[in-house]
Amino acid sequence: MFKTFHKGGVHPPENKLSAGRPVEPFPVPATVAILLSQHMGAPAKAIVEKGAAVKTGQLIAKGEGFLSGNIHSSVTGKVSRIEAVTDASGYKRQAVFIEAVADEWFDDINTDTLLDKEIKLNAAEIINKINESGIVGLGGATFPSHVKLSVPRGKKADFLIVNGVECEPYLTADHALMLEKPGEIMVGIEILKKALGVTQAHIGIEANKPDAIALMQKFASEYTGVKVHPLKVKYPQGGEKQLIKAITGREVPSGGLPVDVGVVAFNVGTVFAVYEAVQKNKPLIERVVTVTGKNIKNPANFRVRLGTPVAGLIEAAGGLSENTGKIIMGGPMMGKALAIADIPVVKGTSGILLLQDDEASRNKPQPCVRCGKCVAVCPMGLEPYLLMPLSQKNEFDRLESEHIMDCMECGSCSYICPSARPLLDFVRSGKNNVGKIIRSRKKQ
Ligand code: SF4
Ligand code: SF4
Repeated sequence: MFKTFHKGGVHPPENKLSAGRPVEPFPVPATVAILLSQHMGAPAKAIVEKGAAVKTGQLIAKGEGFLSGNIHSSVTGKVSRIEAVTDASGYKRQAVFIEAVADEWFDDINTDTLLDKEIKLNAAEIINKINESGIVGLGGATFPSHVKLSVPRGKKADFLIVNGVECEPYLTADHALMLEKPGEIMVGIEILKKALGVTQAHIGIEANKPDAIALMQKFASEYTGVKVHPLKVKYPQGGEKQLIKAITGREVPSGGLPVDVGVVAFNVGTVFAVYEAVQKNKPLIERVVTVTGKNIKNPANFRVRLGTPVAGLIEAAGGLSENTGKIIMGGPMMGKALAIADIPVVKGTSGILLLQDDEASRNKPQPCVRCGKCVAVCPMGLEPYLLMPLSQKNEFDRLESEHIMDCMECGSCSYICPSARPLLDFVRSGKNNVGKIIRSRKKQ
């Protein structure tokens, strides 16, 4: 019997069309647009100007806020301009444009692919190196990893959780990475264990990836205190709180953080980036991106330099077909629909999904029939049928008391609703408004 979380969840069709495809290096593009906002906090501050020559891996912007992160050049070339570009949310954000002329790596970045198991840095040095390297959560949250590793005074991490769940339909980037870099991921886990001062690590992988489970178990057997947990397939098991519950049985309290229950969790892609930063001195300048969809001729897992245009990835996978209804950055449940394909890949880009017209279209919303299905599937124990009208009526106090801030925006409620009510859209906007009110209250 596989473990899983117990509250809510849905079973959308998996559609893992790119499963089994290796990670292909995507060619270095002629121009990259490297966004200064690729992390949860304030934008990084550019430290290069127009005309500057930069090398691959060179620092080009410094993260200055608490939840900010450093940004490095993903190519070797010249900064042609620094100006606003549309990002996945549809807003204009500042980006450093670099025209690539070569691929010469900065200073002492080690580009060899030999597995380096000897961890020379101590805990503080590891956290500092991860901060310098601009590593953020690659599962999509883009929370700076060095902040996660700095356990607040009075709290204690008991163990590390590694998220290899990849429960979003269609996406296979983490799956492909686990099959190609299991040795590096294991060393990354040892690095994170050392940084946190813990002896136990638990890796969660859903049962629809038996090859990754078997491989990771084989590699984990060489280490002490690393255990692989095959999990029942259920969305949104990759949510941090759901994964912690599934593996440890511990429940992160409303408004709390995993460390409140003695856990720190990282996605497998982040663990690999940590390995490269600490063992190879390589900052985060590329990531694995799944390009997929029923209309895509060659679904693929590409290793892509940050700032590469999404349009180029779609072209390489076979191009846009006529009945493409939507381009999504991420998966179908939590991804963002793109207004245009001329958007750069960022640290949080796990996939590019092309939905067919029929998959993308929504039925006309009907009145709520009080079936309770949205409540039954909500993994956070919320009442989406109630939150939607409260959000429509701007009843922010009530929304806050109904714990709207606990919503993880998984979309399970919208997915299951027989009346096709746009529950997530309204819950998300209500959450944004309540979040603003809470932040302004804290400033007073
Ligand atoms: S989107 Fe929010 S309200 Fe809807 S099921 Fe997910 S957590 Fe619950
Ligand atoms: S699932 Fe839809 S119809 Fe059923 S209670 Fe929720 S909002 Fe109403």
